[in-house]
Amino acid sequence: MRALVRRGDSVSLDSLRPEPALDEGFALVKPSAAALNMLDVAVARGAGPDPAFEGVLGHQVVGTITETPRGERRFASGDRVVANPGFACGRCDMCRGGLANHCREGATLGVRSLDGCVAELVRVPIQCVIRTPESLSEEAALASCALAAALQIVQAVHIETKPYVTVLGDNLVGLFAAQVMSARNTAVRLLGASERALSLCEKWGLKHRPLHEAGRRADQDVVVDCVGTPESFNTCVRLVRPRGRIVLKAAFSMPGETTPRRDLLSIVENEIEIIGSRSGSLPEALSILERGEVQHDGLFSRRLTLDDATEALAAAADPAQTGVLVKV
Ligand SMILES: [Zn+2]
Repeated sequence: MRALVRRGDSVSLDSLRPEPALDEGFALVKPSAAALNMLDVAVARGAGPDPAFEGVLGHQVVGTITETPRGERRFASGDRVVANPGFACGRCDMCRGGLANHCREGATLGVRSLDGCVAELVRVPIQCVIRTPESLSEEAALASCALAAALQIVQAVHIETKPYVTVLGDNLVGLFAAQVMSARNTAVRLLGASERALSLCEKWGLKHRPLHEAGRRADQDVVVDCVGTPESFNTCVRLVRPRGRIVLKAAFSMPGETTPRRDLLSIVENEIEIIGSRSGSLPEALSILERGEVQHDGLFSRRLTLDDATEALAAAADPAQTGVLVKV
């Protein structure tokens, strides 16, 4: 089969990748589309959670089940599904303590220990398979992972009164985060560098500004970083008020990066709280998308086919793109 594969330090489209076998506890899923974002770019460059990861890239997918393990009753061949990228073992202290999101095994599709989704067939742990409403478009289903990540911000930040919130990031997570936060009684604005993202905000009635026009006043109660570069982190530190909060949705250290992250002293002096936030509930995200409570039309600014998967990966690193879809 064809698959986008990282081997050593290089990434290429492998046309002769063996199809995955159906193992105990897994389902085989035939993707109709996969998405690529900065996490996949980081993994490709050896800057992901596991720098030595080798295998198929991609952690966001929508597709149909082709085979399920013997005795499986919840899913059947032909079911339309998405995959929760994070696998939880169910046995470690984190899993047993109700924090499966922080499982010690830490396997993630296309990121750590498990092959990913930019391929003609994917092997997905059965517990990570989530049925997708037929009414949901392919793009909406594919965007559910990003919405789940945005939803987790609300869990991380206790919102009282009407805080001033800035979201940095003109990607799927940023555009969802701005929507989710604005529905939660916050004065939210999105700062972005992509014209596409700013015009989507305009269309959706979300406050927005080009990144280079961000003021210099440290007056934001909460700043959410959905970009994850040293520059975006430094911008967060500059914008947040004393005793304010920074939510990190992403933090990448790419090879060859030269910009240092800002001196931690200003974080100490201004008593800034920094909160890490990862993915939230995928079923909840799918329900919200099905009920039409968030806008998602036009989020994917590039659509490529599996044959152009390496170009798609390059596009995912381009800040002008809000989202990259690979049609399989
Ligand atoms: Zn576990």
